[in-house]
Order: sequence, then structure tokens, then C-alpha cells
Amino acid sequence: MTSSEIRQHFLDFFRSKNHLIVQSAPLVAKNDPTLMFNNSGMAQFKDFFLGNGTPPAKRVADTQKCLRVSGKHNDLEDVGFDTYHHTMFEMLGNWSFGDYFKKEAITWAWELLTDVYKLPKDRLYVSVFEGDTKDNVPFDQEAWDLWKPIVGEDRIILGNKKDNFWEMGDTGPCGPCSEIHVDLRPQSEVDLKSGKELVNADHPQVVEIWNLVFMQFNRKADGSLDPLPARHVDTGMGFERLCMAIQSKMSNYDTDVFTHTIKVIEELSGITYTGSQREYPDVAMRVIADHIRAVSFAIADGLVPSNARAGYVIRRILRRAVRYGYSYLGFTEPFLTKLVPTLAMQFADVFPELNAQRDFVATVIREEEAAFLRTLENGLKLLDKITGDLEKSGGKVIDGETVFELNDTFGFPVDLTALIAREKGFSIDESGFQKSLQLQKERSRKDASSATGDWTELHDIDGVEFLGYDQTEAEARIAKYRKV
Ligand code: ATP
Ligand code: MG
Ligand code: MG
Ligand code: MG
Repeated sequence: MTSSEIRQHFLDFFRSKNHLIVQSAPLVAKNDPTLMFNNSGMAQFKDFFLGNGTPPAKRVADTQKCLRVSGKHNDLEDVGFDTYHHTMFEMLGNWSFGDYFKKEAITWAWELLTDVYKLPKDRLYVSVFEGDTKDNVPFDQEAWDLWKPIVGEDRIILGNKKDNFWEMGDTGPCGPCSEIHVDLRPQSEVDLKSGKELVNADHPQVVEIWNLVFMQFNRKADGSLDPLPARHVDTGMGFERLCMAIQSKMSNYDTDVFTHTIKVIEELSGITYTGSQREYPDVAMRVIADHIRAVSFAIADGLVPSNARAGYVIRRILRRAVRYGYSYLGFTEPFLTKLVPTLAMQFADVFPELNAQRDFVATVIREEEAAFLRTLENGLKLLDKITGDLEKSGGKVIDGETVFELNDTFGFPVDLTALIAREKGFSIDESGFQKSLQLQKERSRKDASSATGDWTELHDIDGVEFLGYDQTEAEARIAKYRKV
């Protein structure tokens, strides 16, 4: 089954269950001050769950373009190092707004995965919320009772609040989830260790594919829960992971969602992708195949790279891709721009907005690349020198002023400097950087207030609030993958 067929089957399946198929909302969240990017299928329906506005139908399904690089969901540092977290991905989803509930959601999910997609039943596991007495939330007996005759008790895993309870915020709609995981390991490994033990353990071949959220409570300000008068279903399935499972691949990047792009990267660089988990040209190719998609669709959805807010997130993603290409694939000229036509063609049916603006998107990317390539080499030289000095002196941390200079003079976003530092075995002085930044901010403010011209431009430092993980968090995550 091709990825297009897989997507189509999902939509057809829920259409046959009387769902209205709607369009993906743009990547950039509109009218939501709490969210910069759409990071889940439900984001565009949030108001309906809060009781504001009326949904277009009681049953809805779609594929939503999602971006998880900021805020609550930030998967940026995992991308390329693992094989199943992307910056941008498609989330397939079906919703019930006060209509059907757990029974239908569970039965249909199973029917779709095993009857339509023919995933082997003995490779699927489901999780059910175990309850949390401290937090007043009960065990999800209803989901357990529904799953038990379908999968059998030994395929049900009890999940904790972190993985299996969804809340919109400190107050408001919330409820338990049931996740579906797939074990894609070779039989010989399965014989040695049950997949059940590896669920939610960051094993690249035992991954979560679908999350079924059952909104049934309303959390009040005093922390207590009331049953919701209208109960809702919100599901999200990772399209790329589903393709990996159906196409029996080892990695999302081996599915036809990514192979077209990787092939072009191979042709342009003359380097062959081997699919290895840890080796560098492979990591770089995965990152680039991922990042170009995120950047292209973000631009097609109206965002341009800039120094502020969402625009800076896009710039940061793009610069990371440029540097991976430069350092590991030998690209000294713009190359990302050349990947746009392949992507535009591949997604023309489902997301025509990219094809419609193909030339504009390619131009914006080419100019961004060219601009960064002008300073990249010198920035890398500076970093080499600093790390060389540190090696001699036995230091481990790149000082804040250098990080600031790399940012200010060479256009290195802080997360990029931290990433390169990590590769070389160093970390950065984050708070020293913040101090230098603050000093510069004060200087520019003074300059601005004394300037008389109309065109004094304040140095925009907004972007720095969108750093990825902090240093130790990111290092811990990467160390974890290196072990797998
Ligand atoms: P994970 O635990 O793997 O990080 P999640 O629990 O954060 O996933 P959900 O918020 O439940 O993910 O989103 C629903 C589905 O979207 C997941 O079951 C997964 O298949 C998919 N998904 C989530 N994050 C990503 C990502 N960064 N890239 C690709 N698919 C993703
Ligand atoms: Mg996650
Ligand atoms: Mg999860
Ligand atoms: Mg989940």
C-alpha cells in the first residue's frame, strides 16, 4: 500500500462511518494566543470542546499538518536521531463532538488497523489509564472492558497519567486515553522479549501509533472533576508511523513518505543513505528530509523565516538543515531549495497549497540558505577555535559571550550552537548567553530612544524564547538513543 492509499483508506473508512471529512488547518495556528503552531489534530476544534461554537458535523475526520517544535510538545532534538519523531508530521484523526464514545472509537480503530490495513493482531498492544488517586481520576474500567474481548488481557498495558490522561489545561475538559502501539521487531527478537515490556520505552521498533482520547470530565478550579454533559472523542494517529507499520519498514524514513526526498538528497550529494541508526551522513539526511518538509509547508501556509516568534522557529529549523548539509554532506551552495519541487509534487493531491506556491517557497528557501551560508563557514571556524582552546585547557563549556557572538554576528541560533557543541562533546553557557543578550537589548533600547530617524530598527531577540530542550535534557535524550 502506498502512503497515499493509506491516507485515503483512513478518510474513506471514517466517511463510511458517517464522518464529515474536513481540510487540515494551516500549520500556523490562527486566533489562538496559547499556541504558535498546530501541534495536534484537535487544535482546530478546541473551541467546540469548550462549548464555544458549533462543529460542522458531530462526526469529523481529517489529516492535520502538525508541527512539534515549541511549547508543550517539542520533538526537535529527537528528529534524525530517532526514526519516528518529526518536526512536521501528519496526524490522522477522527472526532465525535458529543456523539459516539469509547465503544465506537475503540471498535473502529481496531477494525481499521486489522481489517483494512491488515496489521497483525499479535503485534499490537493497547494501553488503558490506570487511574491516579492523588489526582482524583479513576481507572478507565470502561475502556478495559471494551478492549478485553478484542485483544485479550495480556495485550493491555496500564498507563500512567503522563501517557494516558489528557487535559486541555489546569481546568476544563479532560479524560483518559487509550493508545495503540505496534511491535515491528523481527520475530527472533520478539521471541526473546515481549513487546509489552517495550511499550513507551523509546524503542525504535515498538512505537505508539494511535492515541484515542475520551473527554468525559471537566476539571474545576478547585481540582475536582465533574462529568461532562456531552462526552467527546478525539483521536490522533501518526501517519508516517502508520506507513512504517503497514509497509513493514524499520523507520519512517524508509517509507515512501520520505524516500523520494532522500533520493534527491543522495543524487545531489553523491552520498548513499544506508538507514543506519547512528551514523552521521544518515542522521543528516533524515534531519534534512524532515526539516525541508516543515519549512516548505510553513512557508506555503504563509509564514516566512524571520527573527521573531513563529518566523524564527522556521528560520531555526532551516538553519539546522543548512548546517547538517554543509558539515556532513558537503553542500556549500543552496541545496534545500532543490528539494521543494519533489515535495510539492508528492503532496499535490492532499496539500495542494505547496504546489500552488512552489516557486515562491523555493525562492524564499534559496535566499535564506544563501544568506546563512555566507556566515556559516566563519561561524564554524570560530566554534572550532573555541573548542580547540577548550580541549587544551580541559574546559567543557562554551562561554556565553561566544554563543552570543555566534548568534549576533554569524546568525547561529542558540539551539544550533548547542547542537554542534554537543556533537563535539561540549555544552554551552546558556545563562551567560542570556546575560550578553540582555546587555545588548539594553544597549539597543538606549540607542533607539536617542535615535531621531524613522527607521531605527530594534534588534529583535524574541526568537530566543523558543529554545528547544535545555542542555542536560537534550543530552540525556540523545544519550538514550545512542544506547538503543
Ligand atoms: P510520543 O509518545 O511518541 O512522543 P505522543 O504521545 O507525544 O507521541 P500524541 O500527542 O498522543 O503523541 O499524538 C498522537 C499521535 O501522533 C501519536 O500516537 C504518534 O503516532 C503521532 N506523533 C506524535 N508526535 C509525533 C512526531 N513528533 N512525529 C511523528 N508522529 C508523531
Ligand atoms: Mg511526544
Ligand atoms: Mg506518547
Ligand atoms: Mg500519545
